[in-house]
Order: sequence, then structure tokens, then C-alpha cells
Amino acid sequence: MSAGPKSKELFERACRVMPAGVNSPVRAFASVGGEPLFYASASGARFTDADGRDFIDYVGSWGPLILGHAHPDVVEAVSRTAAKGLTYGAPCAEEVELAELVTNAVPHLEMVRFVSSGTEAVMSAVRLARGITGRDAVIKFSGCYHGHADHLLVSAGSGLATFGTPSSAGVPSSFAAHTIVLPLNDEQGFRSVMAERGQDIAAVIIEGVPANAGLLIQPPEFLRLLREQCSHHGAMLIMDEVITGFRIGPEGAAGLYDIEPDLAIYGKVIGGGMPVGAYGGRRAAMEQLAPLGPVYQAGTLSGNPVAMAAGAATLGNLLADNGAAYQRLEALGDRFQKGILAAFAGAGLAWSVVRQGSILWLSLQEGEAPRTYECIAPEAADRYARLHTALLDRGIYLAPSAYEVMFVSLAHTEDDIDQTIAAFHEALGAIA
Ligand code: PMP
Repeated sequence: MSAGPKSKELFERACRVMPAGVNSPVRAFASVGGEPLFYASASGARFTDADGRDFIDYVGSWGPLILGHAHPDVVEAVSRTAAKGLTYGAPCAEEVELAELVTNAVPHLEMVRFVSSGTEAVMSAVRLARGITGRDAVIKFSGCYHGHADHLLVSAGSGLATFGTPSSAGVPSSFAAHTIVLPLNDEQGFRSVMAERGQDIAAVIIEGVPANAGLLIQPPEFLRLLREQCSHHGAMLIMDEVITGFRIGPEGAAGLYDIEPDLAIYGKVIGGGMPVGAYGGRRAAMEQLAPLGPVYQAGTLSGNPVAMAAGAATLGNLLADNGAAYQRLEALGDRFQKGILAAFAGAGLAWSVVRQGSILWLSLQEGEAPRTYECIAPEAADRYARLHTALLDRGIYLAPSAYEVMFVSLAHTEDDIDQTIAAFHEALGAIA
């Protein structure tokens, strides 16, 4: 579906005053074609665009909205708190409450520090790891995204044990030189780099369930190897739970794999739709932060009461009733996965749907679903673009990029899922 006249008009205005009309690149629809829809309002699992058309939304602001759009508890908490002041730049009860909720839910988080985005949390956690270990190098995995801090916008160098090269203009190669990029799920490659350079490595950072280049679910042994090797070489294991934290279960990917990272990073769900990131770990590590320790990090709006209240209302709701929310998300995710698989099969397509709880990814290629970025077939992006447009025509809004996942929320109903599956059947027929 092309954008309606009001979206088009807004986009024209936007393009005059903001690069590509957007404040975050993937929103521009560049990889699926057409022009972006402008959201006018949203509630539960749906949004209305500027032209008054309704869509079922599987982007959910890229993950935070696990309760759905404008959940009444969250809106009430934000309004009530905002009426008392938007930000103080001084301690407030709301930040203590959210910190208690987070640390009570996750055993290896004895302390947290709140910031305002996932990027900021990653940047700060890496600085902390470097400060604690007195080392500079960091290992990341290709296909994992950890925000846009300079030293993590890095692609693999030419050889396995070489240091990375910048993947964005404006990143000095001297910064990228501190980052080693390795393929996921390559035990041998990881072992040999650690054997050679283990004593230089400050941190190994990974998304426990990599969800930024498709959904590249790793075998548990690979994560266990990272844990074991980090401990052996005195490097810190940083688990980026910006997507997975409180999304795939109260203990995120660490809980799923029963692995304790040295530092963990949060964002998205813990802010319930407000700008919140956090990083945390054991007391001894976190006490290295200023003003207790030598590692500096600060923020004007960090821990502001409105954002904290949104996070607390979200987690409070999610963690009530002994995990019922996660059972519901699992059931909805399962129904969705099975329905799409049946639609693929009906269309004679041997494609797959990768899923971890309420996170799903359409892997539009034959054969086993990829576990590494390098295994994603390039032609899948074209297929996705056509499917994306055909679904949009039928009122279903997926992320405008083949590499992005779908998020099911607690606001989605069985009817929403079934309606979406029916749209998949039609869309696949239309693009055949
Ligand atoms: N880490 C991961 C795993 C992410 O998915 C993201 C954002 N999608 C980030 C870090 C960066 O978070 P933010 O966009 O809030 O800076």
C-alpha cells in the first residue's frame, strides 16, 4: 500500500527538515520501497495512520511495548508522575522503585545504573569493563547490534584474528582497531582468538538471542563457551539484553541459557516506551562507577521520574501473576509461528519462521534457518520487500526491513493473530 495523501504530505515536509525525513534510518522504508506511513495514534495492538487507516502493529516501537500501545496503567503512571514534575536532576523515589523491581527480578543484577537509551547503556558498560580490567580490546559478533557508539559500529576485518574496520563514516579506524569482530556460533574461531589475545580482551559482548540481523538463535554451548573463556582469561562477559530483557522472560537471555554475565545491558521494555536504558551487574563491578569508583558516567535526564514510572508500571504489570504474562506471550507467539508456517507451506514455500517467545523472524530462504549473519541469503530481502508491501495493503504493519523481527505484545489477541495469518495467505498468493 502506498502511503496515503496525509502521510505523503508529512513526508515531503519531513524530508525538507530531517535527513530522509526520519530520526532513525530504518524508518525511511528505503529497503522495502515506498514511503513511510506516519502514525497519528495507537492503542493496544493497533495504530491509526495520518490518513485514518488502521493497522495491526508488529513493530511495537521496536520492542518496548510489550503491553501494547498506550496501556492504561502506563499512561496513568506517566500522567500522574508528570503532573509532579518532569525531571529533577536529583534523586527521586521512582528510580529506586524501578531499580528494586529490576534487581529483584534478575539475581545477577545487584545494582543498576539508569541512562536514557540502549546505546548509552552499552557505551557505559564497555567503559566500565575497560576500567575494571585495564584493557582496551572488545570482541563483538557480526550481526549483533549494540547501538551506535563509535567502537561498536565496526565490521569484521579481513582475517579472523584481525581487528575490525569502521562500518560507518565518521568512526576513526583507531577506535575500530580496539574491536574484534567474529562470526556467531564459531567455537573454534572464538577459542583461537582468545588463545592468542585473551589477555588483551576487556570484554566480550553479545546479544544473548541476537535479534538485529534476523533472529540468530545460538546453541547454548556457544554461550557457555563465551562464559567459560571470559572467566579463564579475565575478560568480562557483557550480555546485551536490550531486546531480550523482560521480553523473553523475567531473566532474559541470561535466564534462558542459565549463564551469568559480568555486566548486563537493558533498554526497551524496562522503559515501557519512555527513553530508558540501564546497565548492571554485581556490586563489586558497579561500585567502580563514579562517584564511588574511577569510571565516569553521568546523565542530565538519567532516572527521570516520568520514564522511571513508565518502566515500573510496565514491569509491575508484566511480573504480576507469577509469569502468566510470559505464558500468554508464548502461546500467542506459537499460534502466530504455526499459522505463518502453514501459510508458507500452503504457498509451496519451504521458508521458516524463527521464534523465541514473542519475538519472531521471517527467514525467507530454504534450508535450515541461519545461525550466523553470513548465512542469510541476499535474495531474502527482495522477497521480504514484496511481502511487506502486500501485508501493508491488508492492514498488517511489519518492520520495514528484512533483518528486523516482529514483536507480539500482550495486547494482541488470538483474533488479531488469526486475522494476520489470513492476510499472510492472501499476500503470499498475491506476490506468487
Ligand atoms: N542493543 C540492542 C540489542 C538493540 O537492539 C538496540 C536497539 N535496537 C540497542 C542496543 C541500542 O538501543 P537504543 O536504540 O535505545 O540506543
